[in-house]
Amino acid sequence: MRFEKYFEPASIKECCELLVEYGKDAKLLAGGTDLVPKMKAEVLAPKAVISLHKIPGLETYKLCDKGVTIGALMPLRKLSLCEDLNKWPALKAAAGHVSSMQIRNQATLGGNACNASPSADAVEGLMVYDAIVNIAGPNGDREVEIADFFKGPGKTDLKEGEFVVSFFVPAPEEGTGAAYRKFAIRGDTDISIVGAGARLLLKDGKIADARITLASVAPTPMRAVKTEEFLIGKTPDEETAKAAGKIARDEAKPISDPRASAWYRKDIVEVEVYHAILDAAAAVK
Ligand SMILES: Cc1cc2nc3c(=O)[nH]c(=O)nc-3n(C[C@H](O)[C@H](O)[C@H](O)COP(=O)(O)OP(=O)(O)OC[C@H]3O[C@@H](n4cnc5c(N)ncnc54)[C@H](O)[C@@H]3O)c2cc1C
Repeated sequence: MRFEKYFEPASIKECCELLVEYGKDAKLLAGGTDLVPKMKAEVLAPKAVISLHKIPGLETYKLCDKGVTIGALMPLRKLSLCEDLNKWPALKAAAGHVSSMQIRNQATLGGNACNASPSADAVEGLMVYDAIVNIAGPNGDREVEIADFFKGPGKTDLKEGEFVVSFFVPAPEEGTGAAYRKFAIRGDTDISIVGAGARLLLKDGKIADARITLASVAPTPMRAVKTEEFLIGKTPDEETAKAAGKIARDEAKPISDPRASAWYRKDIVEVEVYHAILDAAAAVK
């Protein structure tokens, strides 16, 4: 593993300055579960490695009436077990489906998003709740909706000198239920063949709002917008879930790779979206 310089900035400003100074030759280090294996394999050889760990406040979360702000360095295991975050069960479940306990102890929410893998599990939990990405940069702070943050495999909306500080996750309305399901051959330690998230808001027994998110079936984590539109006004029963699964199947744009063929992934989307909708409906509070 090769790198020339290692930095531990103590503030957001200092971190942005280093990112500007080193540009494409710099890599941020969060939990390192993506970065370090790539550096060991010499897929990446940054000149400067910049750790985020000395910047205060990035590992914590803060609740308010409107939702919760979760720091980019929040470890995924801590997130998956945090009782203060019980209002967001799909986010906790998605974080809890990332690989093994060892990886989740180390891996962070910010790293999961910034790695920008189409198969990122914790990202799906953020997408289900329409989270906002809080970004710091040399020209000040800005916010991006999580669905707009991903620009392609490994590509994000981050500009030179910017990094993710936290995520704001809005509190779900009363009458909301949500779920995340991961389908992988060897369980959670395996990368998903399909991930499916669902959030339903029920009013008078009908679906008033819906989010359906998919992992591993497009170049970026995606929302199944046509499926969401179909669900509005419907009763959240088996018939609705079955029909929605078929629409999501058509919306998914998977490729074939060594883990699964495109047609198999589409079949799994249909099944997992069906279950995610019924799980979300059963979880309504
Ligand atoms: C054995 C193994 C199994 C895995 N299984 C899964 C799985 O099942 N599901 C899954 O989703 N992932 C999986 N992963 C991938 C990885 O663990 C996750 O993506 C993890 O959340 C990455 O977080 P990290 O903190 O370790 O990121 P790091 O490795 O530290 O960083 C990842 C990338 O994001 C950048 N970065 C990190 N933080 C920020 C920030 N705040 N702002 C801007 N850029 C930043 C880094 O520079 C780097 O390019 C697995 C990895 C391994 C090694």
